[in-house]
Amino acid sequence: MPRRIPRTVSIILLFVAVTGCTSGGGENWYKGNIHSHSIWSDGDAAPEHVADWYKSNGYQFLVLSEHDLIAEGERWFEISIDRRSVLNDDRVEDLKTRFGEDWVTVREIDGQQEMRLKTFEEIRNRFEAPGEFILVKGEEISERFERRPLHVSALNLAEFIERQGGESRSSTMRNNLDAVLEQESRLARPIVAIVNHPNWTWALTPQELAAIEGTPFFEVYNGSAGCNNYGDESHPGMDEAWDIALTMRLTELGLGLLYGVAADDTHDYYTLGPTYSNPGRGWITVRARELTPNALMEAMKEGDFYASTGVVLRDFRISRSRYFVDIEEEEGITYKTQFIGTRVINGRVVQTGEVLLETSQNPATYRFSGDELYVRVKVISSKAHENHVEGEEGPEIAWLQPAVPDKR
Ligand SMILES: [Zn+2]
Ligand SMILES: [Zn+2]
Repeated sequence: MPRRIPRTVSIILLFVAVTGCTSGGGENWYKGNIHSHSIWSDGDAAPEHVADWYKSNGYQFLVLSEHDLIAEGERWFEISIDRRSVLNDDRVEDLKTRFGEDWVTVREIDGQQEMRLKTFEEIRNRFEAPGEFILVKGEEISERFERRPLHVSALNLAEFIERQGGESRSSTMRNNLDAVLEQESRLARPIVAIVNHPNWTWALTPQELAAIEGTPFFEVYNGSAGCNNYGDESHPGMDEAWDIALTMRLTELGLGLLYGVAADDTHDYYTLGPTYSNPGRGWITVRARELTPNALMEAMKEGDFYASTGVVLRDFRISRSRYFVDIEEEEGITYKTQFIGTRVINGRVVQTGEVLLETSQNPATYRFSGDELYVRVKVISSKAHENHVEGEEGPEIAWLQPAVPDKR
């Protein structure tokens, strides 16, 4: 993939409000999956199965983000006698056993059995426990333009957003993000929009990712099959794309930082394996003042979170002079911390996405030299990411958000 970053760039000074002093106002850490599907769209499990999986596997929040719908209203789903169907007798019996006979509503119309799908509110009432586990309302606006998917998920929205369409890839993306921004400002409610899986069917080049206005969030890791997180021979992986995009945004494009999230994009709860889109592969951990959708969204907008496929942090701090990272070590596992950034000297980009410091010390500290456009952090574990997608064997990783050194 050609990189279109000119050797000489005119540096636009953006160092005003973006300096990352990520205190965020809270000291509690909350782990969440922000991208999931159930049988309301194309997942293979009922929404209660989905919520139960995350609640009982150590998560504090879950975003239900169905394709182009919010789980509300009355919806009946056919119970098939075909064992391969996503809703068959066995699965309905299993739901009754786990959640109670009274919980499951079944009817018969013209000899066909159907189960009523639980709404978002019903799932919330059943599974939420204050301070322990919450559900966040989401939607994946699932556009397509000239056969390329342009998916955007909106977290903590209140009302359904229709696909907006557009005349080009960039205007389609822009129109959907504008619709999210419109709802956010009209309802005075923090909504986070995320550009999903840019490398799925190579939907967005790093240059297109760079040019997106209207949200700073994208998926640096998406755990569903076929998302090409680590690229291939002719396409950069999301890590490299992030550096290309950040460098373009902070130089020629005059745009702000880009924050990377990790998410499961779960579809397959019953069939497990590297060719399926299983739970537990990628998540974010947010530092927030309390476990509420608004507090989580506000902290994310401050960049006060990290993305992970397994590595857990005790702390990270960004001050005017340094980036500090403290890893929660697992016994017998070693860690490599990379501080990655693009330096600009005499108006020229030295190297896009340079490893400025790599250390096995924990905690690890990087002192800003002042010539970095941004500095982000990647922590690489010696432990293999076992629950991976086919072709994505590799270590467990944590990605921390980029910060701009203070130039004052
Ligand atoms: Zn998608
Ligand atoms: Zn999805």
